[in-house]
Amino acid sequence: MNTRKFIVITGTIMLFMSCATNPFTGKQTLALVPNSQILPMAFQQYNQFLGENKVLKGTTDAEMVTRVGQKIAKASERWLNANGYQGYLKDYKWEYNLVEDKTVNAWCMPGGKIVVYTGILPIAKNETGVAAIMGHEVAHALANHGQQRMSAGQIQQVAGAATAIAVSGKDSKTQQIVGTAFGLGSQFGVMLPFSRSHETEADRIGLQLMAIAGYNPDEAAELWKRMKANSGGQAPAEFMSTHPSNDTRIANLTAWSPSAKAEARKFGVTTFK
Ligand SMILES: [Zn+2]
Repeated sequence: MNTRKFIVITGTIMLFMSCATNPFTGKQTLALVPNSQILPMAFQQYNQFLGENKVLKGTTDAEMVTRVGQKIAKASERWLNANGYQGYLKDYKWEYNLVEDKTVNAWCMPGGKIVVYTGILPIAKNETGVAAIMGHEVAHALANHGQQRMSAGQIQQVAGAATAIAVSGKDSKTQQIVGTAFGLGSQFGVMLPFSRSHETEADRIGLQLMAIAGYNPDEAAELWKRMKANSGGQAPAEFMSTHPSNDTRIANLTAWSPSAKAEARKFGVTTFK
């Protein structure tokens, strides 16, 4: 192989396997499918979900979900800007929707597309509880947990679908593949469980985001106590997953709360709602 050919091939591989340090986790993330390609697919699937479900608009709860979402998004951007990652979320198109559904769940697709189900509101109890939930979900997205959960084969499929969409504008398998990529199962809204380490990471990052957004991080542990009390019934994967155990989670959140407040103070946030 001549040098030029080697450079071209290596360059092509590197283009598809760019390895970037995730600012939120400090870990190397293998980005096989660039955001500019994968996010439009997420947006398409999000819109389809909204079209097939009852989205609440203009109610007190819907307005609260939007308000919390905007604050968590702003907190994410402030944190990134302060840490030298200006423009990191340039492909994000934040959106926050409350959906009428009794399932105890919420999720955030990569690109900042958030859904909160009405079923989780009684456990959230108040705006601060919603902030704890949304901080956690946004953290999964920011830390690229969806892609990391995929197998190499699935990543190849998504890369293939992204290419097909870039070429033809449409791909019949897109929904299923993208659903896998973003953690929505074969049915919308059914989350595949994240690993224990991803859950713990999302708890830690989410706690900081809610604090920077001005919400009291002490309340995250209280939220999970309510989740624990509620977990006797049916168990949606994301919020009732048994890993880490509720007790471990509550202990972690309690232990980390002071450092989340300290982080928030760096942004001039000294009082918490
Ligand atoms: Zn989670």
